[in-house]
Amino acid sequence: MGLMTAQEYRESLKDGRIVYMGGEKIEDVNRHPMLKVCIETAALDYEMTHMPEYRDLAVVTLDSGEAISRYYHQPVNGDDLLKRHELMVEATRFGGGAIPFTHDIASDTLNAINITASLMGKPEYAERAENYRRHLQKTDFSVAVAVTDVKGDRTLRPSSPKQAHPDYYVRVVDKNKDGIIVRGAKAHITAAAYFNEIIVIPSRNMNEEDADYAVAFAIPVNTKNLTQVCHPTKTGFGPYDFPVDERPVRWHTDSLIIFDDVFVPWERVFLCGQWQFAMPLVYNFAYFHRHTAASYRVPISEMMLGMAWAMAEYNGIDRVSHVREKITDLVIYLNMLKSLSRAACVDYVTHGGFATPNPVITNMAKYHFASNYHDCVKIVQDMAGGLLSTAPTFKDFQNPEISEHIKKYLGGKAGITAEMRLRMLQLIRRILDPEIEVLAVHGEGSFEAQRMTIFAEAYPELDTYKKYVEREAGIKR
Ligand SMILES: Cc1cc2nc3c(=O)[nH]c(=O)nc-3n(C[C@H](O)[C@H](O)[C@H](O)COP(=O)(O)OP(=O)(O)OC[C@H]3O[C@@H](n4cnc5c(N)ncnc54)[C@H](O)[C@@H]3O)c2cc1C
Repeated sequence: MGLMTAQEYRESLKDGRIVYMGGEKIEDVNRHPMLKVCIETAALDYEMTHMPEYRDLAVVTLDSGEAISRYYHQPVNGDDLLKRHELMVEATRFGGGAIPFTHDIASDTLNAINITASLMGKPEYAERAENYRRHLQKTDFSVAVAVTDVKGDRTLRPSSPKQAHPDYYVRVVDKNKDGIIVRGAKAHITAAAYFNEIIVIPSRNMNEEDADYAVAFAIPVNTKNLTQVCHPTKTGFGPYDFPVDERPVRWHTDSLIIFDDVFVPWERVFLCGQWQFAMPLVYNFAYFHRHTAASYRVPISEMMLGMAWAMAEYNGIDRVSHVREKITDLVIYLNMLKSLSRAACVDYVTHGGFATPNPVITNMAKYHFASNYHDCVKIVQDMAGGLLSTAPTFKDFQNPEISEHIKKYLGGKAGITAEMRLRMLQLIRRILDPEIEVLAVHGEGSFEAQRMTIFAEAYPELDTYKKYVEREAGIKR
C-alpha cells in the first residue's frame, strides 16, 4: 500500500465504525462538522509526508527501497531520536499548534511493545510484535493508543474484590484457539474515532491476581462490539471569529471506548496474562510518550512567547521593566523545554535494541512543561489585557454603524490597528483554550506519574551521591 495520501486516509475511515457524539450515532465521520475538523487536523500528517520540503524528515527509505513513515522506523541511536523529535516539532508548527497525532503515539507504543516482547523470551510474542510493525510500515495506518483505564476506586488494584465491579480495567474474559475476548473501557482516547486502528496496553503495573488485566493488543476501529463516545469539539471558525483562510482551526477530540466482549485474534495479542511484563510495557511506553509530549509542546511554547511579545508591542509596553521580566520567564520556559527534549535524545538509553529517550530527562521535560504551563498562560493573559475576554466580534467589526468606532478606539500604539489586536487576541483564546490547560496537567500522565518515574529512575544515583559526600565529610561506615 505504501505511504498514504491525505485523501486515502479520509477514504479509509468509511468502514462502519460505531461512534457517538452529543447523543447521536454518527453514520459517516467524514461528514460530521466537528469530526471533519479533527480529520483535517490528522490529514496534515499525510500531507506533510508528500511535501518535498518535509520528505527527508518524515520518510525513511529501507534497504529494500521501501519508503516508510519515520515514526514506524526502529530508532537505534540519538540521531534517530532527534529526527523523530524534529518531525514532531515541525508537524505541530505545520498544524498551527495542533499535532496531527496519526503515527507518533502509535510509535511510542509500538516501540514499547517490541522492547517488552524482547524481554519476555517468548518467540511467538516477539514475532507478533515485529509483524505488527511491518503491518504498520506497509499500510501507514493512523493508530490511536488506549492506555487510561476508567479505574473506579483509584486506590484499589484492578482485581480487588472491593472495586464496585470487575471491569474498571480492561481484562480478558475468555480465550479460545483463535484469540481472546476482552471487556472493559478506556477513557480520553485521543483521535480514536477517526484513526484506523487502536493499540491497547495496561495503564499500570500488575500482580499475579491481576493477570487477566495484563493484556495488550491491536484492533481495527471497526471491530465488532467496540463503541466510542466522543466529546464535542470545535467546528472551525465561528461566525463571530475573524476568518484566517491560510490557517483553518485544527483540533482533536477524545473518546470513551467501550470493549463489550471484543474478539482479538492471537496474531494481534502482545500481552496476555504475563503480569510481570505490564510494568516494563507501561514504563517504556511512558518514556517515549512523554518525550513525544515534550516535543509537540515546543511549538505551543513558541506561540505563547510570540503572542505575549506581540501584545506587549501592540500595547506599547514592550520596553517596560516588569514586562521584560515576564517575557524573560517565557524565554526561560521555552528554552528549558527545548533543551531538555533534545538532551533526552542525545543522552538516550538502549532498551531491547531501541534507542529510548533518557527517562529522567524526558520526565523532567514533561514535568517542566506541565507544572509551569499555567504560570505562562497567566503572563500571556497579563500582556493581552482584559480585551482578551471582552473583545467585540468580527460581525461587530464588519457592521458599518459601529466599525469606525471599533477601529478608532481599539487600536494600539501608532501603527497597530484594531484588527491586528483583535486577531491576535482571537489566536490567544484559541491556543490557550481551557481544554489545553487540562491536557497539560493530565495528558501523558498527571504530575505524580512524572515525579514517581524521576525518583525511581534516579534512585540508583542517590547512593552514589551519598557516598560522595560521606567521603568528603570523612565519614567511614
Ligand atoms: C485531552 C486529553 C487527552 C488524552 N489522551 C489520551 C490518550 O490518547 N490515550 C490514553 O490512554 N490516555 C489519554 N489521556 C488520559 C491521561 O493520560 C489521564 O487523564 C491521566 O493519566 C490521568 O488519569 P485520570 O484522568 O483517570 O485521572 P485520575 O487518575 O483520576 O487522577 C486525578 C488525581 O488522582 C491522583 N491519583 C490517581 N490514582 C491515584 C492513586 N492510586 N494514589 C494517589 N493518587 C492518585 C492523580 O495523581 C491525580 O492527582 C488524555 C487525557 C486528556 C486530558
